[in-house]
Amino acid sequence: MLHKIIESAKKRLGNRLLILGHHYQREEVIAHADLVGDSFQLSRMAAERSVFSDVSNAGGLEFIIFCGVHFMAETADILANSPANLARRGGRRVEVILPDVLAGCSMADMASYETVSNCWEQLSRVINIDEVIPVTYVNSSAELKSFCGERGGISCTSGNARAVLEWALSRGRRVLFFPDQHLGRNTALKMGISPNEIADWNSAADLELGGNSVEIISRSKILLWDGFCCVHQRFLLGHIDEIRNAIPNVRVIVHPECRQDVVSKADEAGSTAYILKRITESPPGSCWAVGTEGRFVERIAKQNPDKTVVNLAFQPSYCSTMGLITLENLASMFNPIEQGKPLNVIRVDEKIAKNALIALQRMLENG
Ligand code: SF4
Repeated sequence: MLHKIIESAKKRLGNRLLILGHHYQREEVIAHADLVGDSFQLSRMAAERSVFSDVSNAGGLEFIIFCGVHFMAETADILANSPANLARRGGRRVEVILPDVLAGCSMADMASYETVSNCWEQLSRVINIDEVIPVTYVNSSAELKSFCGERGGISCTSGNARAVLEWALSRGRRVLFFPDQHLGRNTALKMGISPNEIADWNSAADLELGGNSVEIISRSKILLWDGFCCVHQRFLLGHIDEIRNAIPNVRVIVHPECRQDVVSKADEAGSTAYILKRITESPPGSCWAVGTEGRFVERIAKQNPDKTVVNLAFQPSYCSTMGLITLENLASMFNPIEQGKPLNVIRVDEKIAKNALIALQRMLENG
């Protein structure tokens, strides 16, 4: 019944509506997505699709329903409604809708504008702050992207973290990387940065210099915020040992949001898009144990019946906030849209969006 409601509303809305679905979404939600991808791919798609929706294109794109989490909808709003895109459409906005406004990201919540500003202020007392380039993982609030854009910094995804760190280190002596410590550490080590040059910033409010001495800060190339993804941090070394015992010819592939010891023991690590491509292009009969979000792993297994694709851990690791988007709340978005009163519109403050766009454009240029 809900499937029918959604499909007929989609037909009526035609190209006025675009539904974006993140790989970690429920199967029944993904079934209605026009485009499926990871946050990097979806950001690009939101930006590119909205460009085609100029004023001369009657019935062009007016609404994006983003089946993902809050920071992704913010990013889509910033890109789709950039000054250049608004000008192309004669000032008309593309409204970005999140079917459940409570669908956030616990990792993104681990770094706020206030806590990062406090860190920045503390650093400026002991080192030359002009030599620090702030880098925020795209899994962060628009305010933090704006913080980076304003200070010569950049945003990154798991797919282009290395290119972004190289970009940043070619412009400054060191990088402050937030919120995900694991992506930062895994990328820095892969680039050959020594563990000695990586400092961990403990964001507990009462700790001076994030628990570091001035000497540690001064010799660091990368300062890592202490955020993490609870979905990926769940994978442990023991899971790799167990799966290799159970399936001797298995290849272990994990996401770089996993702990460093897990990434270094895995056969391969890469972004969601990389994992999908790698498994899809592997020869029939290949065996994969995948350390990333459970719904995504199950979908890859279904799409690759000629291969063995299993979760790295016996108990799959699901992202609960991605799971907040359901067929029910997706279906409930259509009536208000058709009546011209869309619900759950995510609109980033103009000043924040302006600076966040700078960080996002640099990220897209380094894709
Ligand atoms: S999988 Fe992790 S990083 Fe991604 S949305 Fe869920 S909590 Fe956030």
